[in-house]
Amino acid sequence: MNNLKESVSKKLGFGCMRLPVQDGDTSRIDDAAFCRMIDSFLGAGFRYFDTAYPYHNENSEKAIGRCLAARYERERFLLASKMPVWLVKEHSDYEKIFHAQLERCQVAYFDFYLLHAMNRTRVKETEEKGGFAFVERMKAEGKIRHIGFSFHDTADVLDEILTKHPEMEFVQLQINYYDWESETVESRKCYETAEKHGVPVIVMEPVKGGTLANMVGEPANILKSLDEKASYASYAIRYAASLPNVMLVLSGMSNEQQLADNISYMKDFQPLSGQEQQAVMRVVEELEKLPTIPCTNCRYCVEGCPKKIRIPDIFGAYNMGVQFGVTDTARAGYKRQIDGSGKAGDCIRCGKCEEQCPQHLEIRKLLEKAAEVYE
Ligand code: SF4
Ligand code: SF4
Repeated sequence: MNNLKESVSKKLGFGCMRLPVQDGDTSRIDDAAFCRMIDSFLGAGFRYFDTAYPYHNENSEKAIGRCLAARYERERFLLASKMPVWLVKEHSDYEKIFHAQLERCQVAYFDFYLLHAMNRTRVKETEEKGGFAFVERMKAEGKIRHIGFSFHDTADVLDEILTKHPEMEFVQLQINYYDWESETVESRKCYETAEKHGVPVIVMEPVKGGTLANMVGEPANILKSLDEKASYASYAIRYAASLPNVMLVLSGMSNEQQLADNISYMKDFQPLSGQEQQAVMRVVEELEKLPTIPCTNCRYCVEGCPKKIRIPDIFGAYNMGVQFGVTDTARAGYKRQIDGSGKAGDCIRCGKCEEQCPQHLEIRKLLEKAAEVYE
């Protein structure tokens, strides 16, 4: 683990999934802005870039090729990408996709390479198709320096994978202070599982998709009373980086202001002080007091809905608005949740969902509220 930790040297990585784009089109990366951000990032002594096959409609890796690899010596940066395991139909696809990725990124090897978004189902499919063996082989051939996986499931599944695959050198987890005790994300439990196996953690979404960068009311007062100038995001990133088994925190940076903010507190990183830790815990308590919908995400209601409304996801987006304000981030979150499924306003009030809900939520009324706010 220490070798890996030393190899990244600083605890901030550049997440390339929300790069600056032209005219709001996520496929058209703004190369000039990205190049300037890369120059500042490397200039400040950071080295790690994280991309993946599907980011920016398959354009993130190409932008890395043009803006990073074509402009800097290979030794100046560390590059991570990920195998989109869901696109693999047969074993030979691993080879095709992997080599296409090297080509897109204009590199001969990846420093870090991950099996992307493992969960209970995907890990089985990946094992059956030989995905774990494939990344080991690429490592043996020198095309990958370190192998790992990103993960979206519960801690017991993570435990199974790490037990079965001791060859995995690191794991990428969703960790943020708000979800630390969450029963759905299980940040703490997953972190402790990785720690138990002696596997270092790379943190993704430390700011919860940008959510923890916006605060209103008492949570905002608590953080502002610590330091009027510090950004809300700084506490979220430093919280994740303060965990001893975390080797790196990824931040998806979209503009130069965000980059400058991240660099300001991660260049000479200091873990959160006792007072700051307490303040962050008070923020969580305050956020939990707000009148959110007490949906447990059990999803019993989803299957029978004739309008295919993903009710708990809509409630999750609604709750974000209650806690952090109905900002552009919250609106984008809502839009993501209804993508490809029904929106709150599509409800025909048949009541089937309410028959299933163990929390006895008045789902129809609550969907109406969500539609008022977001539609
Ligand atoms: S009441 Fe609305 S949300 Fe519930 S099952 Fe019927 S259509 Fe779906
Ligand atoms: S059944 Fe109730 S608690 Fe469960 S996900 Fe649906 S709304 Fe939430």
